[in-house]
Amino acid sequence: MRGEGSRVWDDRGRSYLDARSGVWAVTVGYGRPDVVEEVSRQLGRLSFAPLTDAASPVAFDLAAGLVERLPGDLGTVALVPTGSEAVDTALKFARAYHSAGGDRRRRIVISREYSAHGSTYAGSSLSDPDRGLLRGIGGRLSGIRFVPAPYRYRCRYCAEAPACTLACVGVVEEAITAAGPDRVAAVFAEPVPGPGGVLVPPAEYWPRLRELCDRHGVLLAADEVVTGFGRTGRWFACDHWGVVPDLMILGKGMTGGYQTLGAVAMRRHVSERLERRLIPHGFTYSGHPAACAAALACLRIVHAEGLVARAAAGGARLLDGLRRALAPCPQVGEVRGLGLMVAVELVEDRASRTPLPLRARDLDRLERDLRDRGVLAFVDNPVMLAPPLVVTDEEIDHLVEATSAAVRALGERARG
Ligand code: PLP
Repeated sequence: MRGEGSRVWDDRGRSYLDARSGVWAVTVGYGRPDVVEEVSRQLGRLSFAPLTDAASPVAFDLAAGLVERLPGDLGTVALVPTGSEAVDTALKFARAYHSAGGDRRRRIVISREYSAHGSTYAGSSLSDPDRGLLRGIGGRLSGIRFVPAPYRYRCRYCAEAPACTLACVGVVEEAITAAGPDRVAAVFAEPVPGPGGVLVPPAEYWPRLRELCDRHGVLLAADEVVTGFGRTGRWFACDHWGVVPDLMILGKGMTGGYQTLGAVAMRRHVSERLERRLIPHGFTYSGHPAACAAALACLRIVHAEGLVARAAAGGARLLDGLRRALAPCPQVGEVRGLGLMVAVELVEDRASRTPLPLRARDLDRLERDLRDRGVLAFVDNPVMLAPPLVVTDEEIDHLVEATSAAVRALGERARG
């Protein structure tokens, strides 16, 4: 196996356009000598530096580089090894924040349906129960409540209405009120849930969520593990709506897939309060020098090569191409997306919007069909595409052609 740009080759030498970006992680492309060199140079210079000793200049450089890109006063960054550990850390910080402010009753955390927040116990507990991450394990962490996420196509409140009623924000407020507003610590949410189906919220959702959290003294934690670092056509998805969360959770694309790294960015009011009450927290491999070097290289490349704008333009081309190519296919209910994350929702028919029933062998066939056409995609319902930010226009056109042909063939099989 090897990779270069947006493509990977299997052991038989066949090449595929990787529209999964590994697992939503590859940004600057595979096989970049510049990233490899910077990581290797760092390993040669200093291969390990415990963050507790504050001895790693590369970690400080990275923190400074992140703060420069992060919105608002997200000015302090805690580095951890993975996205899941960043979620875990953010949950601890959210509760510790209230406790440090003398408010020990605020323990409840609100999460949303369709969410994916990782595989630690906290991440699994915060993820949609239907993901099955706690199967056979027992109950979730205590104090987590779920509310619906904005999912316009299948909204239980206003799917049939001509315009979104924002009832999906109203239910967050209802959940806060039901729990007791002085008992809620935080709302955890992905700006655009990716693995849950690329659910692009209405433009007013995040500003309203921000306002609601402020009104009730609840922290807003945005999980940008998938959406951060250019994926949606802005540096961070929250930038689309001018919203600054209190905690921002980062991972995946931060190192473009070259190393493993996660982070929690905090607004000043959070870091100042937590600094007064330092909690023992950290992982052996928090902010490993090689990971920091990879992240610094990726930050530089994303900026220098204009990959954020590239994701916006490439994403629009992908969305538009798929919408046109799939318009005649009655089994396609909706094609939606933001930047380089796009979903194709499959239905029995457009009038009923009933999800197309897909057995394991239908999904296998679709996956094989896509591979035969040289594409790796997230094959489920919806089918999801998220190529690296360096994907070229020619590759996007190929992706449109291959995906629409495979989906049309699936539709024909479904119609018998
Ligand atoms: N948050 C979101 C939104 C994710 O999609 C994931 C993983 O898919 C995670 C957190 C966990 O990240 P990691 O797998 O790097 O631990």
